[in-house]
Amino acid sequence: MEYFKSKFINTVGHAFNGTAWTFKGCEVIMHETGFACTCMKRMKYKCNHIKSVELGILGVGQTYYELIHS
Ligand SMILES: [Zn+2]
Repeated sequence: MEYFKSKFINTVGHAFNGTAWTFKGCEVIMHETGFACTCMKRMKYKCNHIKSVELGILGVGQTYYELIHS
């Protein structure tokens, strides 16, 4: 599984390590080395699921969260 480092969240030793966020048909997992998502077999770029989890953790407004989620 590919893990993507977050520019904004230091995932090393983060309290959410091992936490999974479920979306329609996929799952985002936080790991020491970054975020992974199950929506693509081989991830080449950070998908919107990971981005919305990041924004959610950062507490960015719900409106924007809804926007990129849909
Ligand atoms: Zn995804």
